[in-house]
Amino acid sequence: MTPLFDGIASFAQGRDSRKFSIEEAVRSCLDRIENLDPELGAFLSLNPNAVNRARQLDNRMARNPAQSPFYGYPVAIKDNLHVAGMPTTCASRMLANYRPLENATVVDRLLKAGAVILGKTNMDEFAMGSSTENSAMGVTRNPWDTRRVPGGSSGGSAVAVASDMAPMALGSDTGGSIRQPAAFCGVLGLKPTYGRISRYGLVAFSSSLDQIGPFARRAQDALEMMLVLSGPDGRDMTVASRNPEEMRRDFASEVRGMVIGMPEEFFSDGLDDGVRVSLERAREVLAAEGAEFRPVRLPSAQYGINVYYLIATSEAASNLSRYDGVRYGYRSLKASNIRDLYTHTRQEGFGPEVKRRILLGTFALSAGYQDQYYRKAQQVQSLIREEFDRAFHEVDMLFAPTTPTPPFLFGEKSSDPLAMYLSDIYTISANLAGLPALSVPSWPTAEGLPVGAQLIGPAWSEGRLLKVASVLEEAVGVRRPPMTGERQGGEAA
Ligand code: GLN
Repeated sequence: MTPLFDGIASFAQGRDSRKFSIEEAVRSCLDRIENLDPELGAFLSLNPNAVNRARQLDNRMARNPAQSPFYGYPVAIKDNLHVAGMPTTCASRMLANYRPLENATVVDRLLKAGAVILGKTNMDEFAMGSSTENSAMGVTRNPWDTRRVPGGSSGGSAVAVASDMAPMALGSDTGGSIRQPAAFCGVLGLKPTYGRISRYGLVAFSSSLDQIGPFARRAQDALEMMLVLSGPDGRDMTVASRNPEEMRRDFASEVRGMVIGMPEEFFSDGLDDGVRVSLERAREVLAAEGAEFRPVRLPSAQYGINVYYLIATSEAASNLSRYDGVRYGYRSLKASNIRDLYTHTRQEGFGPEVKRRILLGTFALSAGYQDQYYRKAQQVQSLIREEFDRAFHEVDMLFAPTTPTPPFLFGEKSSDPLAMYLSDIYTISANLAGLPALSVPSWPTAEGLPVGAQLIGPAWSEGRLLKVASVLEEAVGVRRPPMTGERQGGEAA
């Protein structure tokens, strides 16, 4: 079961030379989903109109040549982004029957470029988690070893791309939710600069940290998608008016002469040896290409988790107050008065992690504690930002592991929230500082588990990060999980 095409360039070439029709391309993804997804569980819903749309696009192409590489390209969408006519569940009972009326801006832009939406992908409930185990909708398995988690919260999107059920997918990243599952599943995942992409139509978790970004196999594909997604739309006031084309220019820059910083704090004791060895090899490749490596210090990064779990939970407590059973979403039938309606609805609609976050956030913002917790967290956040700024006076970007360990087993961390939170220790500071960061596959561990190398850059440096990622991609080679190549010969669970 080899994929019909491999990345956007090969897709566009096959499409334009009529090697396959768009309908065939879309059907090939749907077939893989049918074969693989019963075991992997990446999708929560499929687009019933995918094949129809593909046919329409084929018909239109019979008259006019395709204008965009995305014309006919199949994509998967994390289930916290609105696609009109399909459910947006956020993997929560609270939104199990919710259907948005409008598309998210990113979805509109993909559709305008001609993309075909395959379906919506599983995630941790309301994007809170690092393993997709917090989904109220079921389990998503890591295609490299189905006993292991795919990471999270965008686990379904990462698995969809890793197993070629979808060549690309969208996720969201508040503290690592694109990069961490990308690392765990052996694909590329990019969290853009805060303000690069409109979040209109993304269900808000922590609005000062959330960003939408792509999962792909190749840096080139991620770049093409960034060009489609970026720029203001008038519906999210945090989007900056930068010209996205700067990313294409930067993608053409040279690795030779780049100065890359290695934050000492990211290579300390907690780092798994397999990850360390893999990253050392990646560093050697970049050095051989002419990049110069320098140690840098980010002493406040160690407080990132603490800061994040005050800021993100405070914002979440406020963002999630809208789920009260009155306007939309789940409504408890047990209540006889309005107060009980709120209580029962939230009690029954939210899972345990979401409740924990709401409680933490409400506490952090409560009278008398706000200065001690929330304000303090904001002060440390400023320190983290300043340290990154200082580092970027000396280096062009930072090189670090994405995660402290390779993918862990189901249940390994789910009963210990703090252990789960710590799996984002290397990804969170980029969100706190609003910086672009990506995870690109490095060499797998001796046991064959994926490892991600993280690149963090100054604001608006996505093009350069992707350039460096493309060099690693070439050296490491595109690797596919054994179970998805040949279904029968698949790895045992
Ligand atoms: N794992 C982190 C959390 O649980 C980050 C989640 C995210 O980026 N959405 O909050």
